[in-house]
Amino acid sequence: MTLAGKTAIITGSNSGIGLGVAEELARAGASVVLNSFTDRPEDHQLAADLGARHGVVARYIAADMSKGAECRGLIAKAGACDILVNNAGIQFVAPIDEFPVDKWDLILAINLSSAFHTTAAALPMMRARGWGRVVNIASAHGLTASPYKSAYIAAKHGVVGLSKTTALETAGQGITCNAICPGYVLTPLVEAQIPDQMKVHGMDRDTVIREVMLLRQPSRQFATVEQIGGTTVYLCSAAADQVTGTTISVDGGWTAL
Ligand code: NAD
Repeated sequence: MTLAGKTAIITGSNSGIGLGVAEELARAGASVVLNSFTDRPEDHQLAADLGARHGVVARYIAADMSKGAECRGLIAKAGACDILVNNAGIQFVAPIDEFPVDKWDLILAINLSSAFHTTAAALPMMRARGWGRVVNIASAHGLTASPYKSAYIAAKHGVVGLSKTTALETAGQGITCNAICPGYVLTPLVEAQIPDQMKVHGMDRDTVIREVMLLRQPSRQFATVEQIGGTTVYLCSAAADQVTGTTISVDGGWTAL
């Protein structure tokens, strides 16, 4: 399967799932655009190394996904967008009545509104070429809920709804839009939740991983960034031409419970 000739933009891709998805898309031959809000030499080096590993063009474009104009600017600066992976996301854990308003606003902006802005900017480019893929990285928390994660869960349910609407508005145009719903994947975002979860539940690290974080993941195994990347590559393949407006869970059975 080759994605040669396609340009993929992956938001929030200087670490974790986004970087894993970029790696698999590059392995399949796509040119990739990495992104985060920082603009450090190591961000650009990360893209250069990835491109060299796979023999593809790889660029890094800094843009803050909490700001609508920068989301749209990312697509414009890239100059082409055949594959858009909306992946940037943050987490914050607190009960609703103590949830800081600025954190609520930031999570909604980065985890949900950014996908609206990038999609709005990318669809005209996809329509002009008669082919496109929008892959939104939602979550098992786009389909189910847990306490203390109100903003994240509201945003991820929103991403699932946005994916369906995007699919309907692009149906029959060679463009598909789907949401991948990972269970727990061990990345910096999850690593950062462990101390909070230890505090909330009064448990040590191993116990909180086994008994809390992976409790709802029947496989009791973390999903990997390679698996999320491979699922993205599948959604970009001809086999998935008629797969649109749906969710694909990569969650070790979480949503089967
Ligand atoms: P991560 O913290 O490793 O990666 C998040 C990425 O988003 C980073 O590259 C970060 O730089 C970027 N980012 C953060 N704020 C940004 C901003 N304002 N502008 C641009 N980029 C920004 O986390 P991850 O676990 O790889 O998460 C990636 C996505 O996958 C998120 O949307 C997350 O909700 C989702 N997800 C993760 C898991 C999991 O278990 N790790 C499970 C389900 C869904």
